[in-house]
This record gives sequence, structure tokens and C-alpha cells, in this order.
Amino acid sequence: MRLKGKTALVTAAGQGIGQAAVLALAAEGATVWATDVNAKLLASYEGVANVKALPLDVLDKAAIGKVIDSMPAIDVLFNCAGVVHNGSALESTDADLDFAFNLNVRAQVWAIQAALPRMLKSGGGSIINMASVCSSIKGLPNRFVYGTTKAAVIGMTKCVAADFVAQGIRCNAIAPGTVDTPSLHDRINANADPEAARKAFVARQPMGRLAQAHEIVPIVVYLASDESVFATGQVFSIDGGMTI
Ligand code: NAD
Repeated sequence: MRLKGKTALVTAAGQGIGQAAVLALAAEGATVWATDVNAKLLASYEGVANVKALPLDVLDKAAIGKVIDSMPAIDVLFNCAGVVHNGSALESTDADLDFAFNLNVRAQVWAIQAALPRMLKSGGGSIINMASVCSSIKGLPNRFVYGTTKAAVIGMTKCVAADFVAQGIRCNAIAPGTVDTPSLHDRINANADPEAARKAFVARQPMGRLAQAHEIVPIVVYLASDESVFATGQVFSIDGGMTI
């Protein structure tokens, strides 16, 4: 039990990487507050030990503050929520940019602003922000808004890490390659030729396959635990060789 006694908040925990993270954190003994805007998805946590599931729209700054204030403690914050837009700079609209900056960047900032005072008061904490290999570490076509916002996550992560490094706060980002999650299926199925779209995603991965969500979350457990006590301000790529 590497996380016994720790309390964690995970956003976008209803499916995909967030859900896999909740289960992995709870299995290591953490008490996990699993949140998602889609309350129906949270039903999967019924009866799961150490997990308290509750609805939270991370675009609602006040609601984030309320949830964090209501937690008995917060040692770990995993900011997982995010959205993918397709298109180059020429195809991206102000509305796309606003939406993605709010969900991919500002919501993470809001959660950090709500959690940090409590973490500082209790002597420390670990913040884990969801970035992506896509376009922030490796340039990829057709992901202008996504790459721009995920790159901002990396900068924000380093700034928080630098400001609070002497006060027991660690702040890191994770950058997965392409992960086989429900939203990826939706994006594949939205194509005129879904089979070709899936093949194109797989072709980006040097291992010749997509990741499964459970293959991404061991790094979340590591960063949440005291094993990573000397790691801060870093971006951890788990990408099946995409950035070799
Ligand atoms: P997903 O996209 O399949 O699920 C996302 C979850 O987020 C859903 O349960 C949804 O209800 C929830 N959500 C959406 N808007 C929300 C909001 N406003 N407030 C709270 N919850 C909200 O999950 P995923 O593909 O595992 O993606 C999770 C994160 O991982 C995202 O930040 C994504 O950018 C990032 N990521 C994904 C991949 C991938 O290939 N799947 C790769 C790199 C990074």
C-alpha cells in the first residue's frame, strides 16, 4: 500500500485515463475523490472501496473550490480533464481556443489555486497535470489548439513547481501517447472512414499499437506517492516510443 493515508482528487474520472487512475490510486490505499461532469459515468464506482464519487464540472471555478474545501484533506491532485480539437491554426476558431484554454488550462489552474493553500497548510502535496505528447512535445499535424493548450499545461506545471519547491509541493505533468479510451473511439468514429482513422492513429505509435489506460496510470501512482519525493517540475512521457 504505497498511498495509505493519502487523499486524492481526480477530475474527469468517469472513464478513460481518469477512471484507471482512480482505481490504481485506490488500490494503493489512497482515499480518492473521483469527479466527473457526467454523473452517470460515476455509477461504476458503486461499491468500490476507498472511492467517493461525485459530479464536478471543472469549467465551474466555484464548484471546484467547493469540492476541494469539502475534502477532509488533499494530498494529491490529478488534473485529468481535457478536450481535443482538430485543425491547423488556419482552421481553429476563437471559440475552439476559448473552450480548450478553459478546459485544458484554466480548470487546472483553478483546481491548483483551490488545493494549494490546503496543501501548504498541511506541509505538502503532489499535483499531477495532464499534458500530452501530441504537439506540445512532438509536433503533430492537425492539432493546433490541443497542442497549444497542452504546451501551456507544461509551462504552468513548471511555474507552480518553481514557486513552491521549498514548501513541500511537487508539481509534475504527464504526457501520454495515443491511448485507447472512449473519447478516442468517438473521435475515430466521427471520421468518414473510421478504419482508416484508427490505422492512422496506430501508425503514429512506433510500437504498432495504442496504449491502454491502465498502462499510463502507474506514473500517476508513482507521482502521487512519496517514492517520487525528489521529482518536481518534470514532464513524464509515456508514449510507446513516440518521442524517441
Ligand atoms: P476521455 O476523453 O475518454 O474521458 C474524459 C472524461 O472527461 C469523460 O468522463 C468526461 O465526462 C469528462 N469531462 C469532460 N468535460 C468535463 C468537465 N468540464 N468537467 C469534468 N469532467 C469532464 O478520457 P481520456 O481520453 O482518458 O482523456 C483524459 C485526459 O487525457 C485528457 O486531458 C486528454 O487530453 C488526455 N490525453 C488523452 C490521450 C488519449 O489518447 N486518450 C493522450 C494524451 C492525453
